[in-house]
Amino acid sequence: MKYKPADNIQDLQYFGEYGGVNPSISDSSTYTFLSAKTMFDTFEGNAEGCYLYSRHSSPSNLYLGEALAAMEGTETANVAASGMAAITSTLLHLCQAGDHIVSSRTVYGGTYAFLKNFIPKFNIQTSFVDITNLEQVEAAITKDTKVLYCESVSNPLLEVADIEALAKIAKKHQLIIVVDNTFSPLSISPKELGADVVIHSLTKFINGSSDTVGGVTCGSQDFINALRSVNDGANMLLGPTMDSMRAASVLKNLRTLHIRIKQHSKNAMFLAEKFQQDGLRTVYPGLKNHPGHETFKRMMNQDYGFGGLLTIDVGSLEKANELMELMQEKNLGYLAVSLGFYKTLFSAPGSSTSSEIPIEEQEKMGLSNGLIRFSIGLDNDIERTYKMMKSCMQEVGVFK
Ligand SMILES: *Cc1c(COP(=O)(O)O)cnc(C)c1O
Repeated sequence: MKYKPADNIQDLQYFGEYGGVNPSISDSSTYTFLSAKTMFDTFEGNAEGCYLYSRHSSPSNLYLGEALAAMEGTETANVAASGMAAITSTLLHLCQAGDHIVSSRTVYGGTYAFLKNFIPKFNIQTSFVDITNLEQVEAAITKDTKVLYCESVSNPLLEVADIEALAKIAKKHQLIIVVDNTFSPLSISPKELGADVVIHSLTKFINGSSDTVGGVTCGSQDFINALRSVNDGANMLLGPTMDSMRAASVLKNLRTLHIRIKQHSKNAMFLAEKFQQDGLRTVYPGLKNHPGHETFKRMMNQDYGFGGLLTIDVGSLEKANELMELMQEKNLGYLAVSLGFYKTLFSAPGSSTSSEIPIEEQEKMGLSNGLIRFSIGLDNDIERTYKMMKSCMQEVGVFK
């Protein structure tokens, strides 16, 4: 039977303090104890169900964490103030000085900058590889390697990682495999395919309303407890905690994720096919000529499609900018970074979200100047959207 991530979320039941249909928000940074002994036990991590201090955990954050763990099929999860907070704490927790990471070279710009420029300060080195080339991945592993890191569907090139095959390599070399699943919530379930730790930027599809940043690390109870340890847990000690009010708000948005993802995927598939027919260089994992199409199909939870992201290449940055400005003027979407909004968002990654990656590297990985990344919105009439986009393209001379 196929994995049912949305059903797992729906099967959870929380009530508020007065029988409300939503859990009550815990509007407190600290918690009282009836006995001094329980306070001590809580510090030691031995008092199940007791709260100590909201940097450690809070009821609202736990509710959201449990819902996301249910979605990913992990034992539990820890929510954080941003996707980068989840990524950096997780990696700093897993690695010590002298350790080595093998990472996909096409990762989120912030993740790339963290691995390339920040953690070498702690003598943690990273080898960047083409994650779709399994021999290259395995060849990059050394005796010091601790972590294999990738995104299920990469930003912004939409490369698809074969998580099953990568998990086998990780297991063989006793590495922890960490998968950032931000681009494909519900569609892909990395834990089911063998990943140890699954991370999301909640900022994107999961929250879906572009009103906050947020992140989560999903994993085993032991691992999440370790992240929260008062003695040496990266999340506890670095303190990237999500606010309770925000956790409650993200949880409410999570409940419509399955409906939104289906619509994002349906609209993106429609546009990708049209753009390709029009002769535009179009990258979308749902297209049969996408190099990762078969891999995605094999891994996916059928109902949710191939996701809301696609890219087209219009030849030059000037043309890309002109087109994006015109599409914004026609209210087809916004010239903005980020993704997963109800409105279509577009940006030229080479000069924005991936600008941390040096130009030579960008070229090597196929990140061209005229690339536009679209996060397709929830448009009700996508055919109308297509016609309007096409007329913008004609106006700026995308078609020769
Ligand atoms: C946005 C994003 C992040 C970073 O998340 P923030 O919430 O902005 O900190 C990490 N990974 C991917 C794939 C992203 O798209």
